[in-house]
Amino acid sequence: MPEASCDSVDIAIVGGGIAGLAAAAALAGSGRTVAVLEARELPQPASVQGDTPSDYDARVSALTPRSIDFLKQLGVWPAIEAARSCPYAHMTVWDAEGTGRIEFDAQEVSAESLGSIVENSVITSALAHKVQSLNGIRVLAPARLSDLSLDEHGSILKLEDGGHLRCQLLIAADGARSPTRELLGMRTREWEYGHRAIVTTVAFEAPHQHTAWQRFLQTGPLALLPLASTDDRLCSIVWSIEEHLADELLAMDDEAFAEALGQASEHVLGQVTACAPRKGFPLRQRHAVDYVLPGVALVGDAAHTIHPLAGQGINLGLADVQVLAQEINTALARGLSPGRMDVLGRYQRRRKGDNLAMMAAMDGFKRLFEQHAPPWRWLRNTGMRTVAGLPMVKRRIIRQAMGVG
Ligand SMILES: Cc1cc2nc3c(=O)[nH]c(=O)nc-3n(C[C@H](O)[C@H](O)[C@H](O)COP(=O)(O)OP(=O)(O)OC[C@H]3O[C@@H](n4cnc5c(N)ncnc54)[C@H](O)[C@@H]3O)c2cc1C
Repeated sequence: MPEASCDSVDIAIVGGGIAGLAAAAALAGSGRTVAVLEARELPQPASVQGDTPSDYDARVSALTPRSIDFLKQLGVWPAIEAARSCPYAHMTVWDAEGTGRIEFDAQEVSAESLGSIVENSVITSALAHKVQSLNGIRVLAPARLSDLSLDEHGSILKLEDGGHLRCQLLIAADGARSPTRELLGMRTREWEYGHRAIVTTVAFEAPHQHTAWQRFLQTGPLALLPLASTDDRLCSIVWSIEEHLADELLAMDDEAFAEALGQASEHVLGQVTACAPRKGFPLRQRHAVDYVLPGVALVGDAAHTIHPLAGQGINLGLADVQVLAQEINTALARGLSPGRMDVLGRYQRRRKGDNLAMMAAMDGFKRLFEQHAPPWRWLRNTGMRTVAGLPMVKRRIIRQAMGVG
């Protein structure tokens, strides 16, 4: 690739989603240069006017207290809170096939909340605003990576508009189908969950009580996530359902969908009174065999994608970014190159085990709850009742789900 007229930065980040922008904010400073390449326009400061389901982003994240603390460190949490976020203090999980039910409460671990539900557009726009205000960060958006090559000094990125960029360290935060990962031939282990996630925003008859509700149906888990609104009746819906049923849910008119959702949620919040348009996301588990190469690190969905049933995807991604930034900042403070394999290897060792454990747990839950046979139903229901009666075990589960376990 030609190197003439090639701009140069210390660190280039491909992908300006939540993980990429958080990485840029965490790595800025101390005179180093960081570039973020994002294929789309960066979002404007969050506009969160209106209180009807269609005024909300259908994509939301259940941010854990650990992620919130990190966003506070990055200085973006006040903007997110000022825009729109809904702390939740309770979680109710129940099995559609029996009497198994378990309640989690923030008070059990002496916390104020278990986390907050925030629209992805609110998180990205707060991060984008922050990144654009920091010295030493160049934001290239819209700018799409089209090719890249590695040499002993780092990487040379080729942009779709013909421009080139050289960097010592390349961070790939370009999502589940990461073009960077593909261009570098970094292998993944993947399999289909056989589920599609249907997401939308709805209004219920009854207030959500700042509770995240999750019902395990044989066809997949359904989550009702509380949203901040004037009457506390709006919820974000993440309904993971077997592929062959997903098209039916997407094709229904609002009335039929409201009826189906009411039944699937056992009318725990009464009737559905209004719905926004629905979107479907195919769900596939992916895990990169290696997160790093000399001069390259994968973070967020580029490194791993996970079933959304416990809302952990971006929480794992933010933990990747936090750990990678710690390792890089330590290396730079010691005068070491951030692309060194010993520096990046420490990041991989600190993150891979945690990510794998969470992925395995989500897979186990999904499989356990889709079993029809009576012994499995008995196991699920007995398991839930047993855990509900064991405060120490419950506290451990809560802390782990909060990212502080
Ligand atoms: C239905 C559903 C519900 C979910 N709910 C939750 C939840 O409650 N909690 C949670 O923690 N997680 C949740 N997740 C997971 C979460 O949404 C993802 O983990 C998260 O969005 C990944 O962020 P990211 O920044 O790694 O990747 P992305 O958001 O995919 O961002 C990648 C960015 O890279 C850019 N890009 C791609 N290619 C190029 C290129 N060639 N050049 C330049 N830029 C490029 C893209 O434009 C994009 O902006 C959910 C996922 C789904 C599907």
